[in-house]
Amino acid sequence: MADKRILIVEDEHRLAEVLRKQLEESGFQVDVAGDGLSGYRMFTDKDFDLIILDVLLPLMDGFQLCHEIRKVNGKVPVIMLTALGTPEDKLQGFGRGADDYVLKPFDFRELLARIHVFLKRTAQAGVSSGKLKIADLEMDVATKTVVRGNRKIDLTAREYTLLEIFVQHKDKLLSREFLIEKVWGFDFEPNTNILDVYINYLRKKIDVNSGVKLIHTKFGFGFYCSETEL
Ligand code: CA
Repeated sequence: MADKRILIVEDEHRLAEVLRKQLEESGFQVDVAGDGLSGYRMFTDKDFDLIILDVLLPLMDGFQLCHEIRKVNGKVPVIMLTALGTPEDKLQGFGRGADDYVLKPFDFRELLARIHVFLKRTAQAGVSSGKLKIADLEMDVATKTVVRGNRKIDLTAREYTLLEIFVQHKDKLLSREFLIEKVWGFDFEPNTNILDVYINYLRKKIDVNSGVKLIHTKFGFGFYCSETEL
């Protein structure tokens, strides 16, 4: 793990330093930012393999920072570290693109175990790059072809992009805002129904005539792609 670099964004100086020491002793390279803005600057400055974010931060909070990170990088694992533990807080974190949620106070060994899970997953994703899979659906990123079971599915470019984002982030709740930015590249009117229209197209092509539905709605929060309901 010596080549793995972790960014910690945490304004409680003592906690940040303890965490830095423990992670360094576990073999990681560690950078620490004390507020959301410098966290964002560090993130754009260097390549990180994983990011640990506090939620309550000066200048830019962890939810916002996570959202900004996701605009640029959909893949780097983000673990939110916080004392805010209501289901609403968690959903907000996941909606902004966080991968995991660890409640303070936490046991370092548990955090370390989760870090290892994410880094292993990233490594495996790299090996199988070129193909994205969920259930019996397979996407070939190079040729932009999609097959479900033994049925070839014809998608428009936009539909393909939307599906690729869903499958890349499978089992994760994605906000409308996140999906619209990723697929259309700029902010639509918040009440536009373009996303719903495209999700409807995708469902008709992907999920109709299939026992396992892959595209799900979480009312009030967004959408996710999964073999099961989250
Ligand atoms: Ca804090």
